[in-house]
Amino acid sequence: MATSKVKETKAKTEAAKTKSGATKAKAKASASKAKTKASASKVKASSVKAAAAIKATAEEVKAEEVKAQVTSTPKSEPKVSHYPVLIVGGGAAGVSMANTLRRKSTLLEIALIEPSEQHYYQPGFTIIGGGAYSLKKATKQEADLLHPSIIWVKDFAETFEPEKNSVTLRSGESITYDYLVVCPGLQLDWDKISGLEETLGKNGVCSNYSPKHVEYTWECIKGLESGTTLFTQPPMPIKCAGAPQKIMYLAADRFRKKGILDNFDIQFCNAGPGMFGVPFFAKALTKVIADYGITTNFGSNLVEIDGEAKKATFEVTDGDGKKSKVTKDFDMIHVTPPQSAPDFIKSSPLANAGGWVDLNDRTLQHNKFANIFGLGDAGSTPNAKTAAAVRKQVPVVVKNILRLIKNEAVQEGYEGYGSCPLTTSLSTVMLAEFSYGGKVTPSFPKLDPRENRFIWWIGKKIGFPWLYWYWMLPGHTLDIPSKESYAKEFLDQD
Ligand SMILES: Cc1cc2nc3c(=O)[nH]c(=O)nc-3n(C[C@H](O)[C@H](O)[C@H](O)COP(=O)(O)OP(=O)(O)OC[C@H]3O[C@@H](n4cnc5c(N)ncnc54)[C@H](O)[C@@H]3O)c2cc1C
Repeated sequence: MATSKVKETKAKTEAAKTKSGATKAKAKASASKAKTKASASKVKASSVKAAAAIKATAEEVKAEEVKAQVTSTPKSEPKVSHYPVLIVGGGAAGVSMANTLRRKSTLLEIALIEPSEQHYYQPGFTIIGGGAYSLKKATKQEADLLHPSIIWVKDFAETFEPEKNSVTLRSGESITYDYLVVCPGLQLDWDKISGLEETLGKNGVCSNYSPKHVEYTWECIKGLESGTTLFTQPPMPIKCAGAPQKIMYLAADRFRKKGILDNFDIQFCNAGPGMFGVPFFAKALTKVIADYGITTNFGSNLVEIDGEAKKATFEVTDGDGKKSKVTKDFDMIHVTPPQSAPDFIKSSPLANAGGWVDLNDRTLQHNKFANIFGLGDAGSTPNAKTAAAVRKQVPVVVKNILRLIKNEAVQEGYEGYGSCPLTTSLSTVMLAEFSYGGKVTPSFPKLDPRENRFIWWIGKKIGFPWLYWYWMLPGHTLDIPSKESYAKEFLDQD
């Protein structure tokens, strides 16, 4: 059964969660109307009614009525609830989305479907693997992050019926909505590398992409005195495209600090053709690689691991497109798994041909269903899949939902911003910021974005986590403009 988590706090906000008596009937009527609506304009009208009903509820319902049921469906029928705004996924995007919308509209009823009790600050995983941060610091309880008035449905969303404005949960329950926001992140396809799941977390096979195994990365790095270390990168898209190489630099710097760097053969095995998607940064990273004496293997895609034998097999594509298999011995291998849209999105009517939530690149509205929006890693937008992108996407989706509620047209607002703080050593970061089309768009003027800076390392370890937990997730908007003009003088020098 899905659980609607109701916190025992402020009566005012809790009242907005609960429908009782006459207001239940109103909301139910609104729900059934919403289900039969096909056009976006009808959806808008219903939402205004629903918002009015909620306002009335908030004023009428007393604190002691909070424990009342969310809906009163007869026991024999599958349960159906209705919320004006329903969010699928409570990660970086879902939590910031819910809390930001709550700040902008205090009485709008918002429900969020999220199965996990733990919320991870995933950008911290790189420095956990590098031994410079702890998993404890990167973990919080989901319940502590959501505003008390957000209804947390602790379950998996499984199917979508956008024509009926309905989402079905793994429990079998359905939830209807006026507006849907889809942000369940992406799927890590560990099983696409033969033998990986059996050996991950032992035999020197580690990955920062799993909270279960990220600490093992540091164990591997700490324990090695010499040998061959492989760092793999699968085909794009992946979340944080810089992460596969960031951990490599941290490992190399550890070895250097211990005076044992020369004992290692460090190899970057990348399915892609170059160091980074944005040439300006790729060039600068080539220098970092050379400084550590790292070997690069492009067009080299990990397909199989034999952990006990410590052998990794790659499918290598040469310049003429000819494929062959190459097997390498390793003492440690850091694996970045292949990634794709979640299966339940791929098989849904919301997906584009690639399986991602089919969105307009700039409004983040669904290309077919006007009352559906999406953001974060699950979206089809061709930006770098990062929490930094989410920070810029959230205000656009919030604004557009509020505009639709007021019967106004959606507006463009997202320029494709993404950012990757590339940890080039244990005390420096190259802060790569860019937007659609590979435009270099720094947030700070006068600072060459290719420079490896200590200040950004402090940002990575202290500043960015603080911003994430205490600014972005609680729904504050941080509008630091990122501008191509700031990069011009450095691009001219390139
Ligand atoms: C190693 C690593 C390093 C990174 N480094 C950086 C960095 O330096 N900077 C940066 O900006 N970003 C970085 N990222 C990327 C960043 O963490 C993601 O881009 C960001 O978390 C995306 O947010 P999201 O909400 O789309 O997905 P997530 O934060 O992954 O959240 C998705 C949520 O959806 C939930 N969900 C899944 N399936 C369902 C379902 N069926 N129903 C309901 N809910 C569901 C999940 O439980 C999860 O809570 C890094 C990521 C990793 C792994």
